[in-house]
Amino acid sequence: MRYSRMLLPTSKETPAEAEVVSHQLLVRGGFIRKLTSGMYTFLPLGYMALQKVTDIVRQEMNRAGAQEILMPMVQPGDLWQESGRWQKYGPELLRFRDRHDRDYCLGPTHEEVVTDIARREMQSYRQLPVNLYQIQTKFRDEIRPRFGLMRCREFVMKDAYSFDVDDAGASQSYEIMREAYHRIFTRCGLDFRAVEADSGAIGGSFSHEFMVLAETGEDTLVICSSCSYAANVEKAAITAYSSDFSQEPPADLVRIETPGMKKVEKVAEFLKVQPRKVIKTLLYYIDKAPVAVLVRGDRVVQPVKLKNLLGATDITPMEEDQIWEQLRLPAGYLGPVGFPLQVVADQEVMDMVNAIAGANEKGHHYNGVNPGRDFQPDITGDLRQIDTSDRCPSCGGDLKFKEGIEVGHIFKLGTGYSDAMHATFQDSDGLEKSFVMGCYGIGVSRVVAAAIEQNHDSKGIIFPLPLAPFQVIILNLGPKDERYCQASERLYTDLRSHGLDVLLDDRDERPGSKFNDADLLGIPYRLTVGKIFEKEGRVELRVRKTGVTEVLTLEETGPYLVDLVQSAL
Ligand code: ATP
Ligand code: MG
Repeated sequence: MRYSRMLLPTSKETPAEAEVVSHQLLVRGGFIRKLTSGMYTFLPLGYMALQKVTDIVRQEMNRAGAQEILMPMVQPGDLWQESGRWQKYGPELLRFRDRHDRDYCLGPTHEEVVTDIARREMQSYRQLPVNLYQIQTKFRDEIRPRFGLMRCREFVMKDAYSFDVDDAGASQSYEIMREAYHRIFTRCGLDFRAVEADSGAIGGSFSHEFMVLAETGEDTLVICSSCSYAANVEKAAITAYSSDFSQEPPADLVRIETPGMKKVEKVAEFLKVQPRKVIKTLLYYIDKAPVAVLVRGDRVVQPVKLKNLLGATDITPMEEDQIWEQLRLPAGYLGPVGFPLQVVADQEVMDMVNAIAGANEKGHHYNGVNPGRDFQPDITGDLRQIDTSDRCPSCGGDLKFKEGIEVGHIFKLGTGYSDAMHATFQDSDGLEKSFVMGCYGIGVSRVVAAAIEQNHDSKGIIFPLPLAPFQVIILNLGPKDERYCQASERLYTDLRSHGLDVLLDDRDERPGSKFNDADLLGIPYRLTVGKIFEKEGRVELRVRKTGVTEVLTLEETGPYLVDLVQSAL
């Protein structure tokens, strides 16, 4: 492609609303343009990068034996009624009516549609296993679309669905996908981890997320230094817990004055104890009902664990004014002793002895609180987030924490959808059975953003070679000089004839802006027809990632670069 002919609007200005680097660079580099909140057009360069991801995904899905299909993006509400998700899915599902007043939605995912295909088209165990996938636009009316391609409302997903005769078969299908995902993200040139994950709203029993490691990731991962354990903190279970003050004899419960001490740290400092001596009491709306949640003062509630423990669909922390207006309780001084509403406690709280907790009265706490004696929670369980004081739940080793961007998610679904939608086949024993399903997603457009979050510097993007829209950029620094043009054209033709993706910067621009644009766009190899060409007839090769340069003759450049690219892919 010739730069002069390409719609490639680069800019020095960072868009004000772009909070993360991938968003900034994708806009500055002319890869994407916003249509409206959470919806983007892929301009030519952006679409090339997207297709690099798509190609890898498609090749590896096909290699793993999955079959590509394409389902409609608009889905009838009836199917969602059947699965029970019409009610459950919440406002991310964009619902609307057609001219006949029938319900429809834009597909955020396709379990219903694909299960409908299965029940119509697969009758016998002889047809199984089957894995069907598509690469298609999804719509989710996200509450906070942000970070450019990372969290859109409309985005490109690869979604696959497996159908098996039994659980053992489903496990095998799952493993095949797990391996395919490893191959996909390795081939993309990304530093990633597969972690144990919560199954979320899609349901099911077992799942892994594939996380690209990057500081801007919205997820936190816990990784064991000694064994292969890695999990999303939403999932990581607390298996061993201890309370090192459990030896104390129980003291009397006393009410004490703690004026202005609404924070755990403040109360602890005032009473000269560690924050871990304090019971933290937080109020949440759990499926709209106010509930108190207790954790030790040095811990953090993990909302997903809390949600799972209670089988809730929605949990929202209550604000201070809501707590006062609705319950007449003073936030900052809440505690479980004599508490009027439902109380849910982290398991660790039950081992606390002579703890401090709010007295449900402004400026007052209790000291000497003993769980079991002074209060009895309605529910106890594992609901706090794992932290640096914890050991690996699998081997007891040291834990590390890292931020990650979820680019893929695989689930074992079981028979939830097939039971609900009566999707059955006849097994070898003659019995009608429900398909055992799995589902497997990749955020194809998010992968482009994640690659940039992981690979950039102050000058711009540093594309991993497999995802780079162009592998080589040729800078012609003398676009008005016949010799420069001939040399550049020769390189361009030569490299393209070897199948490389080449951008020829033939614009009539200053060298400085050509260098800047080349760095911004993150093309892995840059060839400059410039000063050295003038003097010696040779060109400079520069590697974007390392900054290493070499000087090559026109003859050797072609074969040398072809070799470099092919051995790196
Ligand atoms: P998240 O927790 O980020 O909302 P999810 O659990 O809702 O993701 P899945 O339903 O498993 O995601 O979808 C499969 C993949 O689609 C995800 O792993 C992610 O890479 C991608 N994805 C999900 N939501 C979005 C979005 N709003 N914008 C871009 N990609 C997305
Ligand atoms: Mg989501």
